[in-house]
Amino acid sequence: MSISNPSRKMKFKVLIDESLCKGCALCVYICNKLGGKVLKESNKRTLLGGTLPILNGECLGCRMCERYCPEFSITVEE
Ligand code: SF4
Ligand code: SF4
Repeated sequence: MSISNPSRKMKFKVLIDESLCKGCALCVYICNKLGGKVLKESNKRTLLGGTLPILNGECLGCRMCERYCPEFSITVEE
């Protein structure tokens, strides 16, 4: 059994592999719908002409973006 300690504030890093990301913005949609509302579309384009996501705020670590990314190009680390 794992017990979470609410007093321990964890920091998460969101890593995006730009060579794999197609810029579909699904992670942005999911983060804003179900996550911490911190992923946004940037001005930077992917190789396929989509928009690269960027983090704008503190990630909650819910990993919804990681789970839904069709290209496995986004990873969340503690
Ligand atoms: S869901 Fe994946 S492929 Fe789509 S924009 Fe996000 S990181 Fe890129
Ligand atoms: S882990 Fe959750 S809060 Fe963090 S960027 Fe992904 S969807 Fe957003």
